[in-house]
Amino acid sequence: MARPPAARERRAGARTRGAPRPLLVLLLLACCTPLRPRAASTEIQQPDYSIYLRRQDLLQRVADLAAANPRTMRAESRQASDAGYSIDMLIVTAETAGLSKDSGGHTDKVRLLLDFGEHGREYITSELALRLLRVLANGTALEAAAGGARRAARLRHILDACVFKIIPMENTRGRELVERGQLCERKNGRGVDTNRNWDVDWGKKEKDYDPSEEYPGRAPHSEPEVKIILSEAQSLQPHVWVNVHSGMYALFTPFDHKATVPDGPDAAAAVRMMERINGLSCKGKCAVGSGGKSVGYLAHGTATDYMYTKLRVPLSFTWEIYGDMAASFDDCFRMFNPVTKQAFEETLNDWLSAFLHLLELLPTHPATAPLLRNALAAADAAEAAAAKGEAAPAAAAPAAASLAAGAAGGGGSSGQQQQQRHSRNAEAHLDAPAGGAQQQWARFRPHESSGGGGRSSSGAGPVLLVMAVVALATAGLLLGRRWGEGRRGDGAGGARPWTPGLPRAQG
Ligand SMILES: [Zn+2]
Repeated sequence: MARPPAARERRAGARTRGAPRPLLVLLLLACCTPLRPRAASTEIQQPDYSIYLRRQDLLQRVADLAAANPRTMRAESRQASDAGYSIDMLIVTAETAGLSKDSGGHTDKVRLLLDFGEHGREYITSELALRLLRVLANGTALEAAAGGARRAARLRHILDACVFKIIPMENTRGRELVERGQLCERKNGRGVDTNRNWDVDWGKKEKDYDPSEEYPGRAPHSEPEVKIILSEAQSLQPHVWVNVHSGMYALFTPFDHKATVPDGPDAAAAVRMMERINGLSCKGKCAVGSGGKSVGYLAHGTATDYMYTKLRVPLSFTWEIYGDMAASFDDCFRMFNPVTKQAFEETLNDWLSAFLHLLELLPTHPATAPLLRNALAAADAAEAAAAKGEAAPAAAAPAAASLAAGAAGGGGSSGQQQQQRHSRNAEAHLDAPAGGAQQQWARFRPHESSGGGGRSSSGAGPVLLVMAVVALATAGLLLGRRWGEGRRGDGAGGARPWTPGLPRAQG
């Protein structure tokens, strides 16, 4: 976030230092009736627990889901403590093809480590974790999310070649504080921003450093939350790390601590994947690229930079999945979370879709493509068999086996050709199911689907888009003055594309 607390403090100060109190009282007395609607609109939004789950309920749902699917899921509670501060962290291992007996079973799989709920006030991210877990647990949920059986079948082949480690709520202690009423709290239970506690460029402070938002802790990796995730990452050695936040719309790649993008074809492929997801799932409104470069200010000691630079995780991302730019500074729940049921469902559907697209794009990245070659060959064979009306598994197995043999038998060029073909197929499949997917999404949008049958919302789309653009522009103008201080001149000659008023990157 773009220093919301500091900005909030400035604004609160301005408010109390504003018009003399008697004058204010007179004004209120004179026109209290017309003021009423305005007063209502500036109320601080409280979490609506008919939409959101409370911390304990959400974690219980996750645990129950894993317990109900023991063949493919395992939920484990990890503990760590430091100087009397202790935490519990729930971590779910999911393998749709069946849990491996030990970590040796992960060698030939694409390994994904996904972190949600790192900041207490960002409720929506943990809700997304729960949705994603349901999709991994349940074929019907996958089919609904995929928008049809055909795409789901293909996804199932990809999923079967993956192992997921999912942290549905990293910061349970900070979340506890938010549920008790500290709606603007993002740090952990003892005041440390764990997304500044990692040992890459740790402790460096920008000119406008604000400890109430970004205190990095007394030492790198001092925080129990970070210790647990570090240990998980070291043992899993993931190919994919996604750190899910809210506060804006973005698909960030490294680096956060400097305004550059990593060199090389792998990094370029990762950026291309995010660009595709921006178009497919973020309606093109996500900032894409290096966190430090895209937003125009730097963050030091972030998890994503550590995963990329120290643990060499080739696909390291920070996703920002929601932000209300028009929310007032002290209205944090509204700023970081959708507040209507409809917006809640739409956000979850969009980002569930983003995760499915991420999976489908893995064959386009050099680090993960080889691990998916057999899965995609099996998917191709199953589709071909289905088209001919044959039984899919019988046709799929030999195709996969012969491909594997070809790859192992030094057929370098044929292997490469296969990889290129699968990469192209992956892109093609992304374009195919859009219509079907939208129909299926409607299942999760009660307000839309109950609107008199059919797609009544489709006609409203352009109007809503215009309204959104106007709202964003207005918010930018209004908030720019408040949040802009200390940011201008941050970059070289004002060349950075950061827009005053955009919330802070990297959570
Ligand atoms: Zn965050």
